[in-house]
Amino acid sequence: MAQKDSKAKHKTLFSKDSLSFLKAYINTASPVGFESSGQKVWLNYIKDYVDTTFTDPYGTAVGVINSDAPFRVVIEAHADEISWFVNYINDQGLIYLKRNGGVDHQIAPAMRVIIHGRKGPVKAVFGWPAIHTRHSSPDAKEPQPKPDNLFLDCGARNKKEVEALGIHIGSVVTYQDGFDELANNYFIGRAMDNRVGGFMIAEVARLIKQNKSKLPFGLYVVNAVQEEIGLRGAEMIARRIKPNIAIVTDVTHDTTTPMINKIIEGDIACGKGPALAYAPAIHNKLLSFVEGIADKKKIPVQWRTLSRSTGTDTDSFAYANDGCPSVLISIPLRYMHTTVEMLHRDDIENTIRLMYETVTALTPATNLRYL
Ligand SMILES: [Zn+2]
Repeated sequence: MAQKDSKAKHKTLFSKDSLSFLKAYINTASPVGFESSGQKVWLNYIKDYVDTTFTDPYGTAVGVINSDAPFRVVIEAHADEISWFVNYINDQGLIYLKRNGGVDHQIAPAMRVIIHGRKGPVKAVFGWPAIHTRHSSPDAKEPQPKPDNLFLDCGARNKKEVEALGIHIGSVVTYQDGFDELANNYFIGRAMDNRVGGFMIAEVARLIKQNKSKLPFGLYVVNAVQEEIGLRGAEMIARRIKPNIAIVTDVTHDTTTPMINKIIEGDIACGKGPALAYAPAIHNKLLSFVEGIADKKKIPVQWRTLSRSTGTDTDSFAYANDGCPSVLISIPLRYMHTTVEMLHRDDIENTIRLMYETVTALTPATNLRYL
């Protein structure tokens, strides 16, 4: 057994289609509140690995294995990506925006974007004054990008021309940058937060199918909408499913890059495995069950602490209904909420492995009692 395990460690668990699904999924814009395009890609991939799928009124997508079982376990990620809303169009045809989720204004100048208008996608750029022209007087300070001085230029020279392109107040805007690979098995892309999570839970379903694993409960593979504006999709679907256990995955910060204080943010690095968090919302017994699995299966893990809130869908599941034992398994990521969110392939595989081994070891009889 041990020998087989250590051999398996060096073998990828991805299928030949896994990474093309990840690329296609990352490259499909799924802005907060408008996640349907990404959800279609996700459902199309997962449908072969689950018994049934369903969606809720706001577009959370769920794949179910053993839908008749009374005991219900959720594995969850969020589907939405941070974006912008068209808020005001001026007489020169320049477009001002409002944030839709925690999109980072500091990275916006000179970025290429897609405006999702009524007539389909429209290309545009974040304009920014040239280095030569941005000093209005010799002692003026450099302007800093802020939501109220950032604007889009789509080539239209008045409001009418903007509207003729199908752009309207409320059109959603996403960055163009997509999936790419760097040296040493690093992947980059926008919205790895948290579509890598959607990818990982789908891969868990695929492994269950491929390995013909029998589960003594109903498994709900949940890709929730609207996390970035307050964990709302998870809140809705937790009430609908009423799970007995929830295993949530999201991204967390690699804290080893410059200008991050480890004293505050903890010590987490890409390539060293999924991060497990301690927090009141994280169920102690479920967490120690997951730690036991990591130990037994020799999956590297890292630890961090959170307190009042985890800032992830874990909070929605834990506090939904009458209390649902929940655990958070996070994947380390660099440069969160930029277009170059970076993570390591080994962490993706180890997070999938940890979720898969946990799900296949759990039973309705697993003792999660505190007292
Ligand atoms: Zn996020």
